[in-house]
Amino acid sequence: MTNRENLRQLLLQLDDRGYKAYKDIKGRYQFSDFTLIIDRVQGDPFASPSQVRVLVPQSVAGFPPQLYNSPSREIALRDYLTRQFDRVVRNFSSHRGTGNSGLIAITAVGQSVLERTSVFVSDKLVEVRFVVGLPARGRHISGRQAAEMLGDDIPQIVNQALKYQSLNATAIKQHVEIVEDADWLRGQLGERGLVAFIADGAILPRTSGVDDRPLVEEAVPFQSPNTLRVEFSCPNRGLVKGMGIPEGVTLIVGGGYHGKSTLLRAVELGVYNHIPNDGRELVVTQASAVKIRAEDGRSIASVDISPFINQLPQDRSTRQFSTTNASGSTSQAANIIEALEAGAQVLLVDEDTAATNFMIRDRRMQQLVAKDKEPITPFIDKVRQLYNDYGVSTILVMGGSGDYFDVADTVIAMDNFQPQDVTKQAQAIAQQYRTERTPEGGEQFGSIMPRIPLPQSIDPSRGHREVKLKVRDVDEMVFGTEEIDLGAVEQIVEKGQLRAIAEALVYAKQQYIDGNSTIPTILERVMGDIESKGLDIVTNIPEGGLIVFRRFELAAALNRLRTLKVR
Ligand code: ADP
Ligand code: MG
Repeated sequence: MTNRENLRQLLLQLDDRGYKAYKDIKGRYQFSDFTLIIDRVQGDPFASPSQVRVLVPQSVAGFPPQLYNSPSREIALRDYLTRQFDRVVRNFSSHRGTGNSGLIAITAVGQSVLERTSVFVSDKLVEVRFVVGLPARGRHISGRQAAEMLGDDIPQIVNQALKYQSLNATAIKQHVEIVEDADWLRGQLGERGLVAFIADGAILPRTSGVDDRPLVEEAVPFQSPNTLRVEFSCPNRGLVKGMGIPEGVTLIVGGGYHGKSTLLRAVELGVYNHIPNDGRELVVTQASAVKIRAEDGRSIASVDISPFINQLPQDRSTRQFSTTNASGSTSQAANIIEALEAGAQVLLVDEDTAATNFMIRDRRMQQLVAKDKEPITPFIDKVRQLYNDYGVSTILVMGGSGDYFDVADTVIAMDNFQPQDVTKQAQAIAQQYRTERTPEGGEQFGSIMPRIPLPQSIDPSRGHREVKLKVRDVDEMVFGTEEIDLGAVEQIVEKGQLRAIAEALVYAKQQYIDGNSTIPTILERVMGDIESKGLDIVTNIPEGGLIVFRRFELAAALNRLRTLKVR
């Protein structure tokens, strides 16, 4: 192994040479109190920046083991250090030439605390992965600037961001404790017969539709109604009170603009933990809750949507329904069946993004259009069967149809951003004003047959490249020659999750998609490998930009691949 001085000398020697000569610096370098590893060197100043790592021994970093001695705490500390590194590098990263010259950056972070491959912590060391744009003038190496970046800036960054002594001990403690409490709360839900919990005082609204930070000034803090209030004694924070949403069918009603969708959105994202002061730190949802919406235009590969849709025009089969251009109702039906196939235990539906004809068919319409002329069995006629047959709960925002009172176990009304328990009133109204609808859903929900994806229909290659992946933001990935649109998959919150999903699809194809295994089996195996061996297994070289995802979002990507074929 060479040392820091050698690296500086090497970079000075490379000055003014063609950019490709940077390849020579790949390797490990011993600095006075950490190791720098250059894993991948970019081919030109405009290409994606070079990947590097620093390994800081705990004797130098000095993090007390109680900050990482449980899975929750470890993920929280890693998340915290990613944020600190991000904060510090912003002072060093600068434009120093062509392309991305001078860039120093770590994976972007949002409001969620997620397991990322940007930082690892163990008793031995702290490892941080990030990227640097090796500096150039035109296409010639700027050796002196590179020596400054790697030789001087990085040691300072390590000092400021990765040593316990230079960080705020109180803030770190708060970060790990809040995450531990949230994980603990989520773990308690099942025992209490709940699918979600929203703590009193939580701030649910966001700054704007494009800014996920909390709304500050006008935000009305959440306050639970007496009849739905539950209490927990968290390991760190102690007593916490709030609203428990019970298993079964829950309806969220209320006037327009009274906070219904905001509440549901917080529940959707309650499958993840949030940073201190996000406002949703103690909003937790069962880990297998999946948002369902209409998504017209998506492709569908042989999904049995017959529980909801039958007798389509032209006698098209709905037991193995395929299309390259789904309608609102068929897409919503497929989204539900696919979520169930992947193991969802809670469905979350918002009227704002649901297909009306999928949700409800009232008495008058039943009279006008006979059942045998309407392919759709509306969700209202299946939502109870779903709970009775499969134990799958539903939380539904529905301000527009009281017909759902008949099938709801709990009805919550949002009034000026505050929840009220109106279950009793809703039941009384349902008795008094009968809808006189004819239930159309039958006794049973219907069976869910897992599908087997065919390996040749999943091809990540493009031209001479065996694997071509690219991720644009959180809603689109390129997989080989295909584009997969994930804009309607609302529980993907960071780009790194999509990058990891793209890699995991390739991994699934290589390891488990063999023409005999079902989608649930494949998901089980891939997620099991990630759980036991870490997210790194999906890539070849150590990557700092991957973020853990759920099986449901992996399934969502596979299901939206337009070439997918199953049997
Ligand atoms: P609905 O779905 O009932 O029509 P939304 O949830 O879309 O209503 O909320 C309407 C508006 O009110 C949004 O701009 C949202 O940010 C804001 N809002 C929601 N909850 C709160 C709250 N607790 N305090 C202040 N503003 C809120
Ligand atoms: Mg709404």
